[in-house]
Amino acid sequence: MIEIDALRLERRFGRFALARRRMTERLFRDGLRDRRVLRALAAVPRDLLVPEALVGRAYREDEALPIGEGQTISAPRTVAAMTAALSLEGGETVLEIGTGSGYQAAVLSQLCARVVSVERMPSLAAEARVSLARLGVKNVVVHEGDGTCGRPTDAPFDAIVVTAGGPRIPVALLEQLAPTGRLVGPFGDRGEQRLLRIRRTRAGLYEREVLGPCRFVDLVGAGGWAA
Ligand code: SAH
Repeated sequence: MIEIDALRLERRFGRFALARRRMTERLFRDGLRDRRVLRALAAVPRDLLVPEALVGRAYREDEALPIGEGQTISAPRTVAAMTAALSLEGGETVLEIGTGSGYQAAVLSQLCARVVSVERMPSLAAEARVSLARLGVKNVVVHEGDGTCGRPTDAPFDAIVVTAGGPRIPVALLEQLAPTGRLVGPFGDRGEQRLLRIRRTRAGLYEREVLGPCRFVDLVGAGGWAA
């Protein structure tokens, strides 16, 4: 029964469709109950975004994997939690800092209108553009640069996700958040941060919430760590 099901799934959605579905089932069992986010994770072929040699580990939900330049593709569990924390409804413009492999951007692309993603390493930005085109993702634009300055020309953003760990929340990002917008990202020490969610109220205040401990690669730039 399982085999027939697996064959049918794989014929329709590719070689790793079953692995992907199993991964989302494990995430659901572990408490991630946002069905739209789980559907997005079930739709994005992470196996195409990891190095060829690591393809067998693409659907281990807790594993960040190296993507070159000393950077990593975030673990699916992390991407799921951060995406869920943004509470996207479909019409939003989302700013992502740290494109990396393009995985988080591809997941976001399923849940909002437009993703503006910024990556500081030129080689990773170029590769992510190719990967996203190959996945058929059309509503993500990848820019090269220091994301801690945001993207003033595309602001304001309904949601902002920072996927590298910085010492503090970059002020430019807070300024570029729309009223009622949400910012999610890891801030704290090098090597250990707390995942924070900030909400901008209609009155222009910022409410802060700690979602939990986490560990990300460095956010490097004017509003981050020194290179
Ligand atoms: N979202 C990515 C995770 C990549 S890891 C994914 O799903 O694969 C974090 C990325 O942030 C790295 O690629 C790193 O080069 C990038 N980065 C670090 N500081 C940055 C900055 N100031 N602006 C833009 N990108 C930055």
